[in-house]
Amino acid sequence: MCGISGVVGLKNITEDLYQGIRNLEYRGYDSCGVALMNKNSLIVKKNIGGVEEVFRKENVLSVSSKIGIAHTRWATHGTVTKNNTHPFTSCDGSFAVVHNGIISNFRPLKDKLIREGHKFDSETDTEVIPHLLEKYYKETKNIEKTLLKVLNVLEGTFALAFITTKAPGQIFCAKRESPLMLGIGDEAKYVGSDFNAFIDQTKNAVIIDDGEYAIITRDSYVVKDSVTGQEIQKSITKIDWDSETSKKGGYPHYMLKEIYEQPQVVTNALEQDSDSLDEIAEMVFKSDRTQLVGVGTTFYVASYGNYIFSSLAGEFCPPISSDEFTSLANVDKKSLVIALSQSGETYDTLTALKFAKSKGAKTAAIVNVMGSSISRFVDKVILQGSGPEICVISTKAALSQMLILTMIALRVGVKKKVLTKKAYEKSMAALAELPGIIQSILNERSGFIHRIAHSYCKTRHWLYLGRGIYYPIALESALKMKEVAYVHAEGMPGGFLKHGTLAMIDKDILSIVFIPPREDKALYEASIHCVDEIRARSGFVLGIHFDERGKNKDLFSEELILPSVPPLIAPLIQLVIGQLFSYFTATSLKRNVDKPRSLAKSVTVG
Ligand code: GLU
Repeated sequence: MCGISGVVGLKNITEDLYQGIRNLEYRGYDSCGVALMNKNSLIVKKNIGGVEEVFRKENVLSVSSKIGIAHTRWATHGTVTKNNTHPFTSCDGSFAVVHNGIISNFRPLKDKLIREGHKFDSETDTEVIPHLLEKYYKETKNIEKTLLKVLNVLEGTFALAFITTKAPGQIFCAKRESPLMLGIGDEAKYVGSDFNAFIDQTKNAVIIDDGEYAIITRDSYVVKDSVTGQEIQKSITKIDWDSETSKKGGYPHYMLKEIYEQPQVVTNALEQDSDSLDEIAEMVFKSDRTQLVGVGTTFYVASYGNYIFSSLAGEFCPPISSDEFTSLANVDKKSLVIALSQSGETYDTLTALKFAKSKGAKTAAIVNVMGSSISRFVDKVILQGSGPEICVISTKAALSQMLILTMIALRVGVKKKVLTKKAYEKSMAALAELPGIIQSILNERSGFIHRIAHSYCKTRHWLYLGRGIYYPIALESALKMKEVAYVHAEGMPGGFLKHGTLAMIDKDILSIVFIPPREDKALYEASIHCVDEIRARSGFVLGIHFDERGKNKDLFSEELILPSVPPLIAPLIQLVIGQLFSYFTATSLKRNVDKPRSLAKSVTVG
């Protein structure tokens, strides 16, 4: 997982390269570096820290160059040091390489290269690549032949890009599983891990597929097969995100901006192409069993999906964490696997899908990033259209996926005749209220949530409790708290309390209970019962509920009262509260909200 950016142009490109790599910083931010070329010699500048800091420290913008590659790292092999920062160069200084992914056979390759006299400066897997390039170039005297040979010996998953003094004016790049695309501008050509690397310069992209390599110059590009070297005709994809939507737009953090974008994101989800939803509903209907896969937040989205499919369509769709899929899943030709991924590049999820396909299962996915690996791998994809999610913490994308799963479940319910047309219409009408209600919550409740979060930000342990479909909401809200505020928060079904956890209740553990509207009578009562159990042991409870003010007087230690809403959308409203609560706790604790520690946006390594 990391960001790769490269530019070759008519004029000085250093500023463009800076823009590009800065836009990719969410992919990894342990360290950053660039390779530029001046008078046919390579200039490498790199250091630990974020892009802005490294460019300043290393005075990168003072170097003028018409070609360059850059990298922002999320370390997999070797600690975060300057020496382990990309780009890496060959012994003779003629090749500079950046790489995303893992070279799984780097140890034997490195041992052999060392025996042959190559000197290594880093502990990374990546560094074998420039040395291999140097070695094979000596044999072939031809860059493309060299690249083919190198690709042939490398094992693992990667996207790589390099520049070389042997072919000034050309950027070479290749892809095997990690994402890579080209940007086709008039005066310059670009390469990037995703569109954000060049979205400010061009909307024309060429998506590189697995097993392909590409060569770009300022006025040309060519894509070829990594085994045969044969040219492949590629079409241009028009990017429909504009660069403004990728910017912060006055918000202090992308996380807050993205939480505030949710009314629009929900509207986009509601306007999903009906045929695509029908198609996936039909796939669920026809399959013997449907399994939902995701990891981290998307696993909780999948768990939410299971409740929603169960209640609306009488269909049990077990959620499986992508990284456990191969051990746990039971798939065959009659199965359907629906994957959830914001980036569409999540390695574990892609691996699960590949496993499912190898067993003959049908696959579908809901992803946010057009052209991503998962979106192209599955039999049927729904592009959720949530716009770029720059903050590493997922908010709007998760909400949108829950909504899309709900719309699919409703369709399956009708197909299976467990839901009448009238009930379907009523549910769709309830969903249509969501954007307006979220907007009013954001307008009217943010201040209060801020105050509560600030008052309790020193809490070290939270219990997040929910019954029924509020359980995945509790899990996801607790994950948000851990990810962004580094505060221990444990999501749990309310029913677990009396099976051991009540023993933990004391003044150091505070609880949040996500309470459904009263119309959901059984769930409501079960949730209030949790509150009673904790309060009976003098525990603290923040109740998030939809009751009228004063109705629950003295029941809670603190309460957050929400406007009355249809039960179908109530858990999604609670999700937004969970997001805001984590966000304000994180800002009170002065956390690095958009780039929390030890987390990267799309985890493209296994
Ligand atoms: N494996 C390489 C490293 O640790 C690249 C990691 C990445 O994809 O960011 O430097």
